[in-house]
Amino acid sequence: QLARLQGMPLSVARPASSDTVTELKLEFALRAALEEDFRQFHLVYQPQMQLSDNRIVGVEALIRWEHPEIGLVPPPRFIPIMEELGLINALGEWILRSACRQLRAWQDAGIFLQMSINLSPRQFQDSRLSEILAAAVRDAGVQPRHIKLEITESVAMQDPQGTIEQLRSWRAQGFQIAIDDFGIGYSSLEYLLRFPLDTIKIDRAFVKDIVASPSDRAIVRAVTVMAQSMGLATVAEGVETQRQQDYLDAIGVTQIQGYLFGKPMRADELARFYLAHQGQ
Ligand code: C2E
Ligand code: CA
Ligand code: CA
Ligand code: CA
Repeated sequence: QLARLQGMPLSVARPASSDTVTELKLEFALRAALEEDFRQFHLVYQPQMQLSDNRIVGVEALIRWEHPEIGLVPPPRFIPIMEELGLINALGEWILRSACRQLRAWQDAGIFLQMSINLSPRQFQDSRLSEILAAAVRDAGVQPRHIKLEITESVAMQDPQGTIEQLRSWRAQGFQIAIDDFGIGYSSLEYLLRFPLDTIKIDRAFVKDIVASPSDRAIVRAVTVMAQSMGLATVAEGVETQRQQDYLDAIGVTQIQGYLFGKPMRADELARFYLAHQGQ
């Protein structure tokens, strides 16, 4: 009996509370969704704007799960469950392939963008990831240099030496690398200086209080100066107001991403947004 329980997903063995019931429901719904060949999933794309010339230089692909009865479930609710159940690798591969195919379609339509794709912690640890990445770009007919892989600071710090080697090999393949949610554990700054990176994404938490908080401003300034000296791009996340953007611009952050400039949108909508903003 115990052995059976141990083989089961954690959430099943946990005592029932209203929370677990909901999670269980999500769990079953997720398994079913995967058997439906990802039809309940789609990607949205949020534009990234370069402050020096106001051009859209890239997008971040973000996953959406829309269940026919439950409705839209936010990624922070279902991605951890998929991680726990070991289902994230299948979804992660679908995300990579879909984003690469979309990039190809945009290129065919004369829309040239950098495509940022999030890698989950478990996906990052998958030994087959390099092959999956290579196959995704090859099959879609896109170049790795137009793909930017986002990994989080916390994942990178779990095994700094292993991460450095992994990132080196991806860069040798031509991929670009961004460190996501930067600034949460800035004790790791020293290590990060050794990581082979192209972009630092400044966490929304710092952007949120940048107008009111001198210390948050100081942190963003320090990170930006460091990034500049290393030749890295900086993307400020979650920019919602013009005042936030003005501060970030004055500090020297190179790109912004947030509701102020553009929300995450479907591929066709993004194409219209791009053409309206950038002209032909
Ligand atoms: P993240 O990678 O930090 O993504 C940025 C999140 O901030 C997105 O939430 C985006 O919609 C939201 N956001 C963008 N601009 C603003 C703003 O101005 N204000 C506010 N309040 N929020 C803004 P989303 O799409 O709900 O994703 C949440 C998290 O779920 C992501 O955080 C990422 O950790 C994870 N995630 C989303 N899509 C994927 C994916 O395709 N793969 C993986 N592995 N994780 C994903
Ligand atoms: Ca991200
Ligand atoms: Ca982020
Ligand atoms: Ca975040």
